[in-house]
Amino acid sequence: MSDEIVDATPEQVLAVVEQMAGLPWPDGDEWLEWEIDGLEGQTSFLMHVLPLAATSDAAALAAFTAPVAALADQRWGVRHRFDATRFTDGADTASYDRRSAPAGLVRSLGAETAVWWRSGSDAVVLIDSSAAALRTSKAAVLVLPVQWMAGPGAEEDALRSPLVADFLSGDENRVLSAVWAVFETRDPEVLAPLARALPAVEKATADVELGGALVPNRSNLDHALARIRLHDRGVCLCAAYLSHQFYDPAKEEHRRHVRVVATVANDRQWVPDRVCECRDCGKRFQVEQGEYHYTWWKWTEISAAGA
Ligand SMILES: [Zn+2]
Repeated sequence: MSDEIVDATPEQVLAVVEQMAGLPWPDGDEWLEWEIDGLEGQTSFLMHVLPLAATSDAAALAAFTAPVAALADQRWGVRHRFDATRFTDGADTASYDRRSAPAGLVRSLGAETAVWWRSGSDAVVLIDSSAAALRTSKAAVLVLPVQWMAGPGAEEDALRSPLVADFLSGDENRVLSAVWAVFETRDPEVLAPLARALPAVEKATADVELGGALVPNRSNLDHALARIRLHDRGVCLCAAYLSHQFYDPAKEEHRRHVRVVATVANDRQWVPDRVCECRDCGKRFQVEQGEYHYTWWKWTEISAAGA
């Protein structure tokens, strides 16, 4: 592939990706070459690799991969982010983190991050270096067992998480700071350890005195725990907007969770409603802002076509 993007629609790419999980594995260090529906790829001991592009036209590549990612969202739900700069162990490192293997491939294509989805016991990873301003931008899809994308010793990780420690501390201030941290994040690296420690967190927080002036902080804690459960079930975290009144669309946009795509006049309120689109799954919400001792926001899901 010298300077080209594969000639396939997003639907065709995903149809091939879905068949990649069934490909045979090679013996030892060799690479197996294969072709599915006209697209060619290779398989190593670790992963099936479908090259999508090597091109000087970064904009064209970005336009090609965006609908592939959107279709993958529909197919597999939650889109995870993978930071390849965090995992740089060599194979001889004593505390080798297995994420270093896929991370090395992501970096070799010129990208620092990738996105991935869980498909059964596999991970589907989309790498696209078109944002890196390289002479040649590359893109590929990897299919590999999901363990390679998750950290080692998941249980130990959970106990090392500072947020888990805060929730377990029994200290009002530490618990509340952890609650607000959970409100602000969609990062699976932060939420996964909390999900694994959830039974312990529920037990440890059941009797903590949390106070709260206008709104009991207990309800904020309950919502933070509900958010962790949504993550654990693979539900996009925009689902949380419907059940809490403190999601400020401006802050959610700043966190890059949503895009404000329109405003709609609202006769009842000083501030027009905002139409927000989830950056992870594309769902749209109309958000009313009001005042009642404090500022609140009411999120209502709308169909994308109606906006
Ligand atoms: Zn969403």
